[in-house]
Amino acid sequence: MKWEQYPEERVFAALRSVLSAKGLVTDAEIFETIAVTERASPEQGARMVAKAWVDPDYRALLLRDGTRAAELLNITMRGAPPLGVAENTPDVHHLVVCTLCSCYPRAVLGYPPFWYKSVAYRARAVRDPRGVLAEWGTVLPESTRIRVVDSTADYRWMVLPLRPANTEGWSEERLAKLVRATDMIGVTVPKVP
Ligand code: FE
Repeated sequence: MKWEQYPEERVFAALRSVLSAKGLVTDAEIFETIAVTERASPEQGARMVAKAWVDPDYRALLLRDGTRAAELLNITMRGAPPLGVAENTPDVHHLVVCTLCSCYPRAVLGYPPFWYKSVAYRARAVRDPRGVLAEWGTVLPESTRIRVVDSTADYRWMVLPLRPANTEGWSEERLAKLVRATDMIGVTVPKVP
């Protein structure tokens, strides 16, 4: 890869050399983090969600310590900020946003979708969460409270969605196929196609 091709790559290269000169981080650590993010994908989070739906002990662990629950499924969390998991119920629906920039559970889900980083999403998720959900086609009962969760550099959040109806007896693998990145951010809810 040619690092000097674009202005942002020159900035990255300069930052990288300053950080390693000061002994704060090595090139190897930076490239390992990039590799972990590139290996990560929403399928990893979907496996966690599906397991939590069928295994009450795993669900309890997931809600208590998301990082540990991810590691249990061989998801690399080393160096990543702690992972919090917010559980949706019929009473409370969670919507994840980073109001400041783009903090996202990258170690689990990979790179955030483009809209997640947009000023529009970051502002409107807080100001009008129900409106944002409606644009995604997610209409919740008026009685369901929407709680907006701020993901930060220190603590990353994902959502444990409600298990869709009519999936009794489904295997973990089959359930996992229902779960998309948007469901784990909370803009959508998993549905049986
Ligand atoms: Fe951020």
